[in-house]
Amino acid sequence: MRYSLHLNSLNFFKDELLYSFLARLAVHLSLESPKALIEAVFDSRSTAATIAIPGHLQKLYSSGCLPPRYTIDQIIHQHTLFPLVSSFIRPELRVELLSNMRNGNASRLFVRSGLAANRLPKLTFLRYCPLCLLDQKNKFGIGHWQRIHQIVAVQHCAIHRCKLLGLKGEQLGYERHTFHPLRIKSCDQVPHYEIGEHEAIVEAKCRELLNQGEPITPTFHQWTNYYLELAQTAECRKGKYIKFEPIEELVKQRWPEAFLSKNGLVNTKSSSSWLHSIFRKHRKSFSYLEHIVVNGAIKGPDFSIVECVKQASNMAKETETIYCEGTRKTSARSTHDMAEWQNLLALNGPKSARKLRPNLYARLYREDRSRLLDANNQFKVARTHNSSRINWKQRDKKAAKSLLKIIDDFDAHLSFRRLTKRFLIYRLPRSASIEKKPTKYVLTHALLEKYSESIFEFQIRRITNTILTSDHHSRYKRWWLLRNSGLSEQRLTKEVRIFIDKILPSEFFTLELTNTQRNSYEQ
Ligand SMILES: [Zn+2]
Repeated sequence: MRYSLHLNSLNFFKDELLYSFLARLAVHLSLESPKALIEAVFDSRSTAATIAIPGHLQKLYSSGCLPPRYTIDQIIHQHTLFPLVSSFIRPELRVELLSNMRNGNASRLFVRSGLAANRLPKLTFLRYCPLCLLDQKNKFGIGHWQRIHQIVAVQHCAIHRCKLLGLKGEQLGYERHTFHPLRIKSCDQVPHYEIGEHEAIVEAKCRELLNQGEPITPTFHQWTNYYLELAQTAECRKGKYIKFEPIEELVKQRWPEAFLSKNGLVNTKSSSSWLHSIFRKHRKSFSYLEHIVVNGAIKGPDFSIVECVKQASNMAKETETIYCEGTRKTSARSTHDMAEWQNLLALNGPKSARKLRPNLYARLYREDRSRLLDANNQFKVARTHNSSRINWKQRDKKAAKSLLKIIDDFDAHLSFRRLTKRFLIYRLPRSASIEKKPTKYVLTHALLEKYSESIFEFQIRRITNTILTSDHHSRYKRWWLLRNSGLSEQRLTKEVRIFIDKILPSEFFTLELTNTQRNSYEQ
């Protein structure tokens, strides 16, 4: 069913996520079913509720539910987290992502934008500042999710100097189609949080990126040249060679180890680390936080990350050849290295050879990547999954035990939401592994199969709950029972119709629904 959505009264708040706007829209339209909302705004019952980089924006725009003065570009740049990645990816990819945001699928966008593969931890809960929430409620009567609070590297609210809180019990992922509104009881007193200098820098730079307007996207060649020049300004360059030790020292001085470790950036020593790679020829994109960490270490806390992007976009489009200290590009050495590498490949295969001689691998990689990959391909070993060191049986048993406990806890609650497989899986530790490896978690998946609720079981539970909690102990009217159970005639499954018609005493349903009554509660 399509809804007429001309909602002049509903507008975006400053820095509000599109996700948050849609959650408020559902409240505004009194759409309790998550699928009813996505059907109304995306014309689909399978679109996921995406936080960072949403898709299907053209359909959303065409549905008429957005405030009239907004364009799709404004939504992308002012109400999604796209500005956080747009300056650090290839320009061609940026064009592709923008096109996919209009007409494509959000799960593909998460992978293509690099958010899935980067080193940063993933956001598991939507976050909010309790004092911002109080302000929002006082000013607007309702809370909303802010973009800046959903950036995983940002841990505090810069306005109120307090730690961000997570929406506990609503872990992201298990309800793919639900847009959760910020409906938490606000409080006016929160414990003081001591903000580290490094945290303040990260928050300020992320805010700068989000508010940069139309973003600039330098090419990888330009980023390569930018970091070469940055090394030069830090006096960490000797001709065409980069001196990594002083750069590592600067990073350590500026950024606490605990912060780097928490964000997956602690490994800076190895020649294949992200810090070394960012000063080499750029072949893949780096996350916003990696750019902030390096520039902050060399330029000091007052640098502007948007200015860095601008400087990079003014760099030459051709890349200089870069060497690392100690590496010499001589044909004799190169030939000797390749011969040695091929011997290693013949005996061990590419993966083991790389583990045995990482320096040799790195040298050959830098000298001629395609020649190295060609050589590796000749000795490619068929991939075998060696996960014998993991005791899957034990993990399966442990997960099954936890699952039974969760099911027990929910057993007494007839009014709780539908216990889908996905909902139950996301309550368990190692949820992604359990979801993606059903053959390793046989017992757990058997229990999930047995105890997860189908739609008809859920509908019957809702009807049972309505009967048990109502004061009417004598006569129920069909329409009354359905309305109080949050169900509609159209969505009733065949089994539930049988349940209502045959199993419950017929005198409960002596009055059939008239058309007028049906219309009054289905709209
Ligand atoms: Zn705040």
